[in-house]
Amino acid sequence: MTTQTETVRWEDLLPREFEQRLERLPLVYLPMGLCEPHGHVAAFGLDTHKAAYMCEESARRFGGIVAPTQTYHIHETGYHRPWLREVVGDVNPRMGSLPPDVVLRLLVFQLRAFVNAGFRAVVVVTGHNGNQRDLRLVAEEFRRARPVPIVAVSDPELVAGRFEGDHAGRYEISQLMYLRPELVRLDRLDDRRGSTLGRFAQGEDAHLATESEGRAIVESSLAALKSIVEDCHPLPGIEDVPFMPFAEAEQVWRRVAARTDEWCTLREE
Ligand SMILES: [Zn+2]
Repeated sequence: MTTQTETVRWEDLLPREFEQRLERLPLVYLPMGLCEPHGHVAAFGLDTHKAAYMCEESARRFGGIVAPTQTYHIHETGYHRPWLREVVGDVNPRMGSLPPDVVLRLLVFQLRAFVNAGFRAVVVVTGHNGNQRDLRLVAEEFRRARPVPIVAVSDPELVAGRFEGDHAGRYEISQLMYLRPELVRLDRLDDRRGSTLGRFAQGEDAHLATESEGRAIVESSLAALKSIVEDCHPLPGIEDVPFMPFAEAEQVWRRVAARTDEWCTLREE
C-alpha cells in the first residue's frame, strides 16, 4: 500500500525504516536538476522539481530510496553556450551552473557513497536533458570498479516516442502545472514581449500546456521507470561489492577525466 506520505527520502528515513527499505530493494535514485530560465511562466527549478517527484513517486510505487537531490548541473559549456545566446540573449539568466568536471567528479563520489551505503543498483534521473551521455560515461567507468547496475536517464528519454521533450514549452510547462501548479503563471505568457528580460528561454508553445497533459507525461514517465526498476536486478550479495575507499574512487575519476575529449558537455554541437 503506497501513500503520498510514505517516507522514501534517505535524509528523512530513520535507521530501522532505511534497513527495511534497503532489504526489500537495495536501489537508490539520484534526482538531478538545476535552476535555469524557464520563461516568465515557470519557476527556475522546473528540472529539479520534476526529477525529484518522479524519483519519489517511483520509490513509493516500485521500491527503493531517494538520495538527496543534486540541484546544480552542467551548463554554460559546449552546446549550452550557443543555446543560451539564442534563447536568453544578453540578459542575466540567473542560473546555478557548474562546469562538467565538477559535476562528473561529484557523480563518481556520489556513486561511491551509494555502494558503500549498501545500495546495489542506481537510477539517476536528470530533469535537465542533454547532459545524460556524460553521466552514462561516468557510470560506465564506475562499473569497471564495481559492477552494480547504473541507469542514467533524462525525463524526455523516459517518454520517447510518446511525448516530445522541450524547453519551457508545452511539454515542460504541462509537467510543472501537474506537479507544482503554484509555480506556473500562464497569465505571464506575454511578458516575453513586454519585459526587458525578453524571451527568457520560454517555449513557443508554452500556451498549449495543460495539467492533464502534464499528468499523462508524468504517468508515462513512471511506467518507464517501473520497467527500469524491474530490469535493474540489484547485485544480490554484499560480498560482490566491497567498500570503495576514496583513493579507488579517485582512480575512477582519473579514467573519466582521461576521456575529456568524449564529454558531450564540452562540445558545441
Ligand atoms: Zn527544463
